[in-house]
This record gives sequence, structure tokens and C-alpha cells, in this order.
Amino acid sequence: MSLELTDLRLSYPDGDARLVVLDDVSLVVKPGELVTVIGPSGSGKSSLLAVAGTLIRPDSGQVVIGGVDASGLNDRERTALRRDRIGIVFQQANLIASLTALEQLRAMDHMRGGTSGRAADLLRAVGLAGKENRRPHQLSGGERQRVNIARALMGDPAVLLVDEPTSALDHARGGEIMELLARLTGERAVATLLVTHDVAQIRHAHRVAEMDDGRLLEREPGLRP
Ligand code: ADP
Ligand code: MG
Repeated sequence: MSLELTDLRLSYPDGDARLVVLDDVSLVVKPGELVTVIGPSGSGKSSLLAVAGTLIRPDSGQVVIGGVDASGLNDRERTALRRDRIGIVFQQANLIASLTALEQLRAMDHMRGGTSGRAADLLRAVGLAGKENRRPHQLSGGERQRVNIARALMGDPAVLLVDEPTSALDHARGGEIMELLARLTGERAVATLLVTHDVAQIRHAHRVAEMDDGRLLEREPGLRP
């Protein structure tokens, strides 16, 4: 299932005027593809993910996931679409301090109403075999990010949205997380849209686009700015 964003416009109230954050943004992410959007702080990257994740409605334009146009859905249907098809890795891992890695995933599953036994498999898939019973303070920053990613994959989403996954990590650890995301994207045929201001990590992407004053410009992957 693809993620298709078409002619998205988004603005926020800004005094008497409006701040245009997304200006005619269009982008298609296919299954198995990792698309990275780069841009400086404040350029609208998190807003783009919030719209793609159906968390906020755009002023205009379409978000289509697996052929389903989110703009045609009511709130309950949008929540169901998000639960069934979208995984979100927020910038802050927001792990629960008292829960082990395994329990973080199971809690997510429980909230979804699921009873799947996928949690242990997913922790293995993100390289945390043997660390399932550690709590967040017993994990490194990179390992916490791996739990965060595994948790987002619990519902077997078609679309994975990832916000600044390397911002709290050193360069090497950040590269490992990007490699992991690229591998999981291929293995699980998920359509991954990742945003970052960290240009050093764009070489792991299949395609790269750049936010520039609300507009999205496609550029060659791997090129330094
Ligand atoms: P980025 O993730 O690239 O740093 P954001 O999408 O968070 O950018 O923010 C883009 C711009 O929109 C910023 O100027 C920010 O201050 C503004 N902004 C973000 N969310 C809101 C909001 N809910 N209300 C008003 N302005 C917002
Ligand atoms: Mg942001």
C-alpha cells in the first residue's frame, strides 16, 4: 500500500495572518520505499508527518493510504485507519519508565485491542534479542529508539512515519538506526516517510526531498547539500 500526498496546504493562525507551513506539497511513497524529507528546524517537517498520519487535517489536499482518502472519513474512521495502517515514530520515544521493552510493545498491542504474540519477534528484528526485559533506563539512546521503532511496527502498518530518529544519537548510532529503518522498510514492504534535519543520514534513503519555505523539492539521494 502506498502513501499518496497530493496538493497539501496547511497553515496555522499567526496573529492576524496565517503562517503557511505546507504549500502545495505532493509526494508518493511506495511500499518498500524509504523517502527522507530534510529541512531546517521550523520548516514544517513534523507538520507534514502529522498531516500524513491523519493527526491534523490539511486546509486542502488529499492524504490517501492504500487507496483510502482520509479526507472523506469521519473522526472514528480516521482513528481506525491510523490504527490499522499507520505506525508513527515520534521524535521523543515516550517510553514508559516502569515497563520493560517487551511490555512497552505489549501495552501498545493491548491499546489496539490486539492479542498478537509479535512483540518478542519484533524486538529481535530491531536487534534487541536478550534485552526484552530491560526498562528504558537500562537501555542506551539507540536501543530506546529501537524499542520505539518496534512499537510503531506492532500493528503491521502499511505506512511508517518517522520524525527525527537520529537527533538524540551520535553519528555512528544514528547511521545504525537509519540502516535498520531502511532494512525494515524493505523486509516489511512498508512505505516509510522519514523527516530529519540531519543531512548526514540521507544516504540511507531511496529518495530525498527538501522542505523549502513550505514547498517540497525532490533531489537526488546521497548528494551533499
Ligand atoms: P519542523 O518539524 O520542521 O521543525 P514544524 O512542523 O514543527 O517544523 O513547525 C513548522 C512551523 O509551524 C514553525 O514555525 C512552528 O512554530 C509552527 N507551528 C507548528 N505547530 C503549530 C501549531 N499547532 N500552531 C501554530 N504554529 C505551529
Ligand atoms: Mg519537528
